[in-house]
Amino acid sequence: MTSLLLTGGRVIDPANGLDSTADVLVLDGKIAAVGKDAGKRAPAGVERMDVSGLVVCPGLIDLHVHFREPGQTQKETIATGSAAAARGGFTSVVCMPNTSPTIDTAGTVALIHERAQNNASVNVLVAGAITKGIAGEELAPIGGLKRAGVVAITDDGHCVQNNELMRRACEYAKMFDLPVMDHCQDYSLVTTGVMHEGRWSTQLGLQGWPAAGEEMIVARNILLAELTGANVHCQHLSAAGSVALIREAKKRGVPISGEACPHHFTLTDAAVAGSEKFWETDGRKLLAETAAHPAWPAYDTYFKMNPPLRSAADREAILEGLVDGTIEILCSDHAPHCDFEKEVEFDYAPFGITGLENEFALSLMQLYHTGRLGLSELIAKYTGAPARLLRLNKGTLAVGTDADITVFDPDREWVFCREETASKSHNNPFYGWPMRGKAVATIVSGRKVWVEQTEAVPV
Ligand SMILES: [Zn+2]
Repeated sequence: MTSLLLTGGRVIDPANGLDSTADVLVLDGKIAAVGKDAGKRAPAGVERMDVSGLVVCPGLIDLHVHFREPGQTQKETIATGSAAAARGGFTSVVCMPNTSPTIDTAGTVALIHERAQNNASVNVLVAGAITKGIAGEELAPIGGLKRAGVVAITDDGHCVQNNELMRRACEYAKMFDLPVMDHCQDYSLVTTGVMHEGRWSTQLGLQGWPAAGEEMIVARNILLAELTGANVHCQHLSAAGSVALIREAKKRGVPISGEACPHHFTLTDAAVAGSEKFWETDGRKLLAETAAHPAWPAYDTYFKMNPPLRSAADREAILEGLVDGTIEILCSDHAPHCDFEKEVEFDYAPFGITGLENEFALSLMQLYHTGRLGLSELIAKYTGAPARLLRLNKGTLAVGTDADITVFDPDREWVFCREETASKSHNNPFYGWPMRGKAVATIVSGRKVWVEQTEAVPV
């Protein structure tokens, strides 16, 4: 059942410095051999999959998703979220703890593990809360969360404002060898901002969310990482100043890291002014001139997320940070919301967009197809790098590891459409966009959980 021979693919395993045409043999859910002769060790009658012309890499990991279970299953469930992950080429995801109730006890962690066991087609890992109820007042039982199996702690969606409390969280996390992930937002600076503070917020009459609101907390996190020695990881970086701070801190050896989401390095705040304004300004060189340029109105709430889309200079700085290794991880911040919640005035709509099914294509388009990064470097940001941060024995095709594998076509041209999404929610600004690069098979522990062409393989 879970034995498989992938033949003729271009196998890229950044963790082992491998990039060549090879076969990959999976036996009993584990990688058994990788190489030109791997097929010779295959037992008679093993299932074969011809992947010539395609890239075979370690299963992609998205360490920042919201599956809304328990408590908000009208938006997403572990079943629908993991189906979206599989379609996007992801074999492992990390669920954020801002569910209802929040993931701040061992019991809730156990509940999610059990639901995932029964309903998920991919590996669903759990991040626990830093503070009880994500209220920022009292530490959650971090040791108990670790014993229950969380891979990190974060108050994502919120940010611990009390620096002393954050220091204690870092000290405990260090003791339990857990990374601390932080949604960087200074509440006193951001107040009720809904979009990037700049020219467009002024022109549109919307309250600004200044870049300094993120940079302030990134600076705080650098100081606390240095003070405590804990691994502090800054989530969904959006601002140029954040990248500069992390770049400088890393030079000094501070255990700080960062992640970026494709919407922040593809779009800008001009998108909130509508498609016409976007395509004639910051979006000008984004798509081929001959390609269809999707249209949307001004104040479209699909372009509202937290942190917000920023300026063209910020977008460029995020891309540069990804290229020079300052930002080592790519992820989606997949944040599903119901249509009725987003179909309100910009001020009142919740922050966030879905992303699992189109993030890999956008990353390929903005980083690989522009010549900024090689395929191996890009894949590392979705595999080895998150695995290292979370201390997972994944993100590689090394013999003996779980056979989590993604097969993709880096050049496949396709259009992302609403009808085909597996997510329960449709709050995504990229519907109708011409995409380039696509996962065609997702394999978890040797089992094909999704293959392109027909629909998902029943789990
Ligand atoms: Zn967040």
